[in-house]
Amino acid sequence: MADSYDEECDYLFKAVLIGDSAVGKSNLLSRFATDEFRLDSKPTIGVEFAYRNVKIGDKVIKAQIWDTAGQERFRAITSSYYRGALGAVLVYDITRRTTFENVKKWMHELREFGNSDIVVVLVGNKSDLTQFRQVSEEEGRNLAESHGLFFMETSALQNLNVEEAFLRMITKIHEITSKKYL
Ligand code: GDP
Ligand code: MG
Repeated sequence: MADSYDEECDYLFKAVLIGDSAVGKSNLLSRFATDEFRLDSKPTIGVEFAYRNVKIGDKVIKAQIWDTAGQERFRAITSSYYRGALGAVLVYDITRRTTFENVKKWMHELREFGNSDIVVVLVGNKSDLTQFRQVSEEEGRNLAESHGLFFMETSALQNLNVEEAFLRMITKIHEITSKKYL
């Protein structure tokens, strides 16, 4: 890791963004990480990541969130992308039904490559585009429930629920890891 990320923190963990192209993953990440936005990248493997410190109780948790940098188009996301990730934000676009149908495919990939106890938040993004909606909020919620995932509709554009979606994942990861290492 680069030297510039040496701020004090109690824990550091990795989480990944997944979902079809153009659903809003990169915009969600820049919204969430914007306070202390430092995008870094590993162009060789086609990923970018950003950091955000979150305080939970008296602990400072640094979330390192990986983004696919457009590689999802080429299906080049492989085991190295998922390796060690404790959380995933799985994004679809509420105005494009195919991106919702592909959630199954992403879940399959997560099961194949991800940690078995990875914390997943299903996110229906672009909730501001109500007139173009192709997936109801209820469908999203039902799908999440059937897979045991958290669920939230967001708008990266209007900054709605973005913080909440990431924080829900981070809080749950903290809960799991602090139990493990007590
Ligand atoms: P990615 O390929 O999943 O990383 O998607 P991007 O973050 O690059 O976003 C794809 C496109 O959707 C861009 O034109 C964004 O401006 C747009 N977009 C992203 N989030 C939202 C949103 O919440 N609402 C609307 N209306 N547009 C969005
Ligand atoms: Mg992107």
